Amino acid sequence: MQTEETIKLVTKLVMDKLSDLEKYKIPIGVSNRHVHVSQADLEVLFGKGYVLTKKSDLKQPGQFAANETVTIRCQKGEFKKVRILGPIRERSQVEISLTDSFRLGIKAPIKESGHLENTPGVELIGPNGSVKIEQGTIVALRHIHMPPEYAEKIGVKDKEIVEVETLGEREGILGNVLVRISDKFSLEMHIDIDEANACALKNNDFVILRKI
Ligand SMILES: [Zn+2]
Repeated sequence: MQTEETIKLVTKLVMDKLSDLEKYKIPIGVSNRHVHVSQADLEVLFGKGYVLTKKSDLKQPGQFAANETVTIRCQKGEFKKVRILGPIRERSQVEISLTDSFRLGIKAPIKESGHLENTPGVELIGPNGSVKIEQGTIVALRHIHMPPEYAEKIGVKDKEIVEVETLGEREGILGNVLVRISDKFSLEMHIDIDEANACALKNNDFVILRKI
């Protein structure tokens, strides 16, 4: 083979590999501990008829960080100034890391958002009052928000469990990653602070999706 042809072939192989890598790149969003609240609980915490005010938009369309924060308290410990994420939900939900759960002295299970059965309660304290939610504290199961067009492009289905490869100084493989597909989502993988630190990842870094 001519040298020129060899170079062309190698270049094509490298470019194919790179575009493959490009295709499976998922941006990271790191979630700090936060609270979702029901309207009823919001009104206990902040007053009758209270409406959340927006501090900043999150990457997921319609989701926002509110200006409002609450204290979350358990017998063993508490965290002050825990941000509320809007909009309002059907049920209040507290998302913490495993490290947080040790500091609070509760056994929060790793669960998908909204799956609150058999999860511990916590006290939420706002400027107007406090509410003890009976259940709803979870360590969020790591997941990827995915729009349908992208899911189709890479051949992944809703609720599929995939792996991602993390790069950099603490490179590794994260398994048990739940894929959630909706036309309301933009492409982003959500991990908590423990996971981010374990892999030395920060917002807008990316990981490579690997189908199992
Ligand atoms: Zn999420």
